Amino acid sequence: MLALIYKSAWDVALEERPVPEITRDNQVLVRIHATGVCGTDLGIVSGRYHASSSIILGHESAGVVVKTGSAVDTLMPGDRVVIDPTYYCGQCEMCRTGRQNHCLHKAVTETGVSADGTFTDYYITEDRFLYKLADHVSYEEATLTEPLSCILTGINQIKLLPNFRTIVLGAGPIGMLYSYALASKGVTGSIVDISKDRLNMASSITPERWQTHESFESAIESMAPGSHQVDLIVDTTGAVGTQVLSNLAHGGYLMLVGLRDGINSFNPKEIVDRSLKIIGSIDSLGTFSTAHYMIEKNIIPAKKIITHTYPLDQYIEAFSALGCDLNEKTLNPSSNAIKVILQSS
Ligand SMILES: [Zn+2]
Ligand SMILES: [Zn+2]
Repeated sequence: MLALIYKSAWDVALEERPVPEITRDNQVLVRIHATGVCGTDLGIVSGRYHASSSIILGHESAGVVVKTGSAVDTLMPGDRVVIDPTYYCGQCEMCRTGRQNHCLHKAVTETGVSADGTFTDYYITEDRFLYKLADHVSYEEATLTEPLSCILTGINQIKLLPNFRTIVLGAGPIGMLYSYALASKGVTGSIVDISKDRLNMASSITPERWQTHESFESAIESMAPGSHQVDLIVDTTGAVGTQVLSNLAHGGYLMLVGLRDGINSFNPKEIVDRSLKIIGSIDSLGTFSTAHYMIEKNIIPAKKIITHTYPLDQYIEAFSALGCDLNEKTLNPSSNAIKVILQSS
């Protein structure tokens, strides 16, 4: 099978790999149909986020069961499924204290980062990481389940109220999914993106009563004229960080979900004195099933968020649509796409 292999920064290629084989009774072989290109993939390819050399990239995926181990009794060949790629052992110190998204085995088990992923034709996982798809949910739409579940994990850490004045930085897939997940809890807000093309695209698919803005300043002026203080800022870009703390109302939240290195500073006294919360959140924790439900019930308009689809062998074009030029070795924050999907042949 052809697989998109990560070798080192800016060095990825399609290479032939053997189809993996079931080695344990609880395993399932899945024929991959679609995998979303994630900001993490762009981070890995551009050398900003560490991944193991020679692994197959890709982790947001759906496909069809082709073979099951002898102990699998809930799935059959032909079942259409979405894959929860966040492996956890269930027995380490992190898993036993409710932090399965930080399982201590992650360094060798993280799909598409430290273990083989799904930008290919076949993938092996355990039955407990598979969720059946309703007939009306396409493989492409189902790929949004994983990023959505990470977002629900983030939102679970906020004592959210529907009247929280909210700004989401970045109109990429994570920003759009955050706005929809927040909207499903009654929240309205603004989405900010510096890329005009992306913002144009985003403005036609924002949740009802949400706005789009070209700058944080115009968003804050519109959301909170006079006080310039809002209750929740979600930074999906990693580029803003703690510099927006002064725009948080007392007791407000800064949610950081963009994976980008940087040195940020803040005044601890301000955090204490104003009861501010700075929260980081990675991967999903007990939210995959809810995300699966929300995609199935169309609470998240997955079809609209997916703006581009390419066959796997056009991965260069797919990455390029997201501002990642593999030939020029440049990663540009502006992009004319929101969610990009690669389809296996
Ligand atoms: Zn992802
Ligand atoms: Zn564990």
